[in-house]
Amino acid sequence: MPERIFIGAAWPYANGPLHLGHVAGYVLPADIFARYHRARGNEVLMVSGSDEHGTPVALRADEEGVAPQVIADRYHEKFVEAWERLGVIFDLYTRTGTENHAAVVTDVFLRLLERGHIYQAPMTAFYCEKCARFLPDRYVQGTCPHCGACETRGDQCDACGKPLNADELTEPTCRLCGGVPELRETEHFFLDLAQFSDRLEPWIRGNDRFKPNVRAFSLGLIEAGLRGRPITRDIAWGIPVPVEGFESKRIYVWFEAVIGYLSASKEWAQRQGDAEAWRAWWEEPTKSYYFIGKDNIPFHTIIWPAMLLGYGDLLLPYDVPANEYLTLEHRPFSTSRNWAIWAEDLLSRYDPDPLRYVLSINMPESGDTDFSWREFVRRNNDELVAAYGNLVQRVLTITARNFEGRVPEPGSAGEGERALLAQADETFAQVTEDLAGCRFRKALGEIMALTREGNRYFDERAPWQQVKQDKPAAATTLNTCLQLINALKTMFYPFLPFSSAQLHAMLGFDTALGAGDWGIARVPAGQAFGKIAHLFKRLEPSVAEEEVARLEAQAKQSAP
Ligand SMILES: [Zn+2]
Ligand SMILES: [Zn+2]
Repeated sequence: MPERIFIGAAWPYANGPLHLGHVAGYVLPADIFARYHRARGNEVLMVSGSDEHGTPVALRADEEGVAPQVIADRYHEKFVEAWERLGVIFDLYTRTGTENHAAVVTDVFLRLLERGHIYQAPMTAFYCEKCARFLPDRYVQGTCPHCGACETRGDQCDACGKPLNADELTEPTCRLCGGVPELRETEHFFLDLAQFSDRLEPWIRGNDRFKPNVRAFSLGLIEAGLRGRPITRDIAWGIPVPVEGFESKRIYVWFEAVIGYLSASKEWAQRQGDAEAWRAWWEEPTKSYYFIGKDNIPFHTIIWPAMLLGYGDLLLPYDVPANEYLTLEHRPFSTSRNWAIWAEDLLSRYDPDPLRYVLSINMPESGDTDFSWREFVRRNNDELVAAYGNLVQRVLTITARNFEGRVPEPGSAGEGERALLAQADETFAQVTEDLAGCRFRKALGEIMALTREGNRYFDERAPWQQVKQDKPAAATTLNTCLQLINALKTMFYPFLPFSSAQLHAMLGFDTALGAGDWGIARVPAGQAFGKIAHLFKRLEPSVAEEEVARLEAQAKQSAP
C-alpha cells in the first residue's frame, strides 16, 4: 500500500539571495526525502514558496527606493532558478503574494477569531512623528543593551546575536529619517497560545519521532508558559486584517507564512484541476513532514499546530526534522557581513551533485557542522571522483572494451561475489530505514562504505588481468561489479540525482529513474551500454585557496 507523504519545506524570505545554509538546512533534506518516497512509489506532495511579506522585504524596498513587490519578484525568480539548477523538485513552489494565499489566510484568521482563539488588545510600539507611521522593530535602530554595539537593529543585534525588542535599545532612532521615535499605544490582535498548552504538551511528549533537541526545545517553551502573540502589525505591506477599523494594519508575517503549507496545497489542487484534492493530504491518513532550520522550531511545533487545532479537522505535523546550522569556514553565515556562499554564484561554477553530496554527508542533522572549501575539494576528489566515479568508469570501460559494449553473462558466483552482493542487500535495507527516518547523513555514509567495498573487490579480482588469463572469470567479476554499481545508482539517487540518471543511461536503461523503482534490480546480461563518460570532475587542490580568497574579498563588499 503506498503511503501518502506531505512534505513542507520552510519558506525562504524574498529579501535577499539564498546561501548554502538555506540549502543544507531545509531545501536539500526535503528534496532527498521526496525523491526517496517517490522512488518507493509513495504519493508525495512537496510544497513551499517565497515569503514575500514582512518588514525585511519592506525595509529593503525602502532602502532601494522601489516598491516591495519589485524586491519580492526579484528574489522569487532567483529562488526558482536555484531549485532548477540544484535539482530540487517541488510539486508546487509558489509565493505568499497570491490571491489564493490571501484568501486562505483570511479564512483561517476569521475562523480562529470566531472561535475565540484570537483576541484584541493594546500594545505599545514606536511611532515616528516625522514619518507619520508606527515603526516595526526592524525600522528602529539604537545601541545594543547587551554588548553596546551602535546602530543595532531593533529585532536582533548583529554584533552579539541576541534577540531584542526595539524598546530595549538605548537612544532609539528611526531608520527611515533618523528622527527620535516615541512609544505610543496601538491596538492589535493576538493569538491566544495559552489555550493550547494542554493539548500541545502531550502531543509533543508522545511524539517519539521528534529529534531530542526539537522535543526538548518545544517542551521548554510550554513549560515556560505560552502567552498571547501579536499577529497584526502597523505596516502597509502584507495581507490586510479582515476586520473593520484595522485598514491601516497587516497580518504579521509569521502568522500568515505558516498557513502557506495549506494554501499551497489548495493551489496545487486547483492546478491539478481538482480543487478538493488537497483534502486527502490534510484530512485523511497522511504523514506530514516539515523540513526547517532550528530557528523555525517554535513556529512548527507550537504555533502552527496551535493554529491547526484551533481551526479544527486538519492534520498536525507527523515529524519536524529541524536541522541545526551550517557554518562557513568556522564562522556563522552572515548576510549583512556578506560572509556567505550564494547558491546562484556557486551553481554557476560547480555541478549540483558534488554540492549536494558535500552538504549531505556533512548535514547539520544533530549539531552544527562546518562547510569549508578544503573539505569540499577533498570530498569531491577522494570520495566522488576517486571512490565512486572511478569505480564506475573502470568497470564500464573494461567491460565495454572486452565484451562488445554489453553486460557479460556471469559464471557461477564464488564466495567473494556472494559476499559483496549480500552486503549490497544489507546496505540497501539499512539505507532504506535511514532515509525513512530522515537520517540522511548516516545513509550516505553507508552507501559510500559499500562503494569502498566495491573498489576493494574490483582491485582484488583485477579484471584487467583476468580478461587476458581467464575471460569467463572476468565476466563474473565484471557482471558482479555492474550489479553493484547499479545498486549504488539507486541508493545514491535521492542525493545525487543527476549522476544517477547519467549512470542509469550508461548502463543501458532507457527508462526514467526515481518513480516507483526503489529496490535492487539486476542489469540483464546482454544489455548494451549507453555512452560512457565521467560522472564527476576532479578539482585542482588550489581551488580551495582560491575560493577562500574569493570569499574574503566578497566579505569586504556589501551583500547582493
Ligand atoms: Zn549586542
Ligand atoms: Zn522617521
